[in-house]
Amino acid sequence: MVFRLLSKIFRRNEVDCKETRRSSSDYLDETLPPRKLAAIQNHLSNCGPCRAFVDTLASTIGILSRFPRVIPPSSFKESLMDKIRRDR
Ligand SMILES: [Zn+2]
Repeated sequence: MVFRLLSKIFRRNEVDCKETRRSSSDYLDETLPPRKLAAIQNHLSNCGPCRAFVDTLASTIGILSRFPRVIPPSSFKESLMDKIRRDR
């Protein structure tokens, strides 16, 4: 009885792979509530595939944030057209 109650309490602080992956961007943004954060960290320490998933996501976000000022093609074209018009 006590054991069943304990495992129920512990299970409440567990997340599965689906939940971990769904929360992974929030995890990297550090916007998870402490309870959820602990559950995710606990899952990641026991689950290789999820750790790899989060690692990949982290490096992807890292790469993207390293190049934040990519000029969108449309505005680049616009400024180019502007320059051509002014040169005339
Ligand atoms: Zn997992």
